Amino acid sequence: MGTRLPGNALAFKRRLLKWFRSLGRDLPWRHTRDPYRILVSEVMLQQTQVARVEDFYRQFLARFPTIRALADASPSAVRDAWDGLGYYRRADNLSRLARIVVERYDGTIPDDLDSLEALPGIGRYTAGAVASFAYEKRVPAIDTNVARVLSRVFPRAAGRHLSRSAAQRRWDLARRLLPRRRRSAWEFNQALMDLGALYCTARRPKCLECPVRPNCRTGAARRSTTEPRSA
Ligand code: SF4
Repeated sequence: MGTRLPGNALAFKRRLLKWFRSLGRDLPWRHTRDPYRILVSEVMLQQTQVARVEDFYRQFLARFPTIRALADASPSAVRDAWDGLGYYRRADNLSRLARIVVERYDGTIPDDLDSLEALPGIGRYTAGAVASFAYEKRVPAIDTNVARVLSRVFPRAAGRHLSRSAAQRRWDLARRLLPRRRRSAWEFNQALMDLGALYCTARRPKCLECPVRPNCRTGAARRSTTEPRSA
């Protein structure tokens, strides 16, 4: 594929970052760069809504404030702390992950994608999220929300949202879209998440209120809320 960015890319980036800097969500895990805290938030967010995760996140960290504390706890104690969040396999994976990180990395969560992805329960998205949100690495973090946003804003370059074959194209596009400054790359990844959660929702995207509409190929074509949904 070519390396040129789509024609709306730079204006989209500028507009998205400007919006995020004043109106992005204030979430507890955005106040830290502690890789352990970021990792816990991302594992919780894998299957659970933000509003529900916020309380559990605080309680869990009060009980296991460090990765060593988590590694020292029995798997059943970790499951117990997870009670109410569901998808308990995440708690089991987190327990195993903590022990591996303590044994293999002396308690420091790695910052590169390959090492992160080799840990239990960590897929490509979560690896990217930890590398970006904790270490401010210039790597994409593409979950289904972000994939949807990219597919709507850049339909030709990003491909159809649910198409698996487009996943690599989206990854390449997202990587090339990342701002050069690490802090701005962090903001850009967070901003894409917020756009997907607040405006560019799976059903009935709020295009007419969306802050990036002038630079979005799908949104710019919409004239009213009654037009058909986009992919
Ligand atoms: S204008 Fe519509 S399709 Fe484009 S990013 Fe905003 S909500 Fe999504």
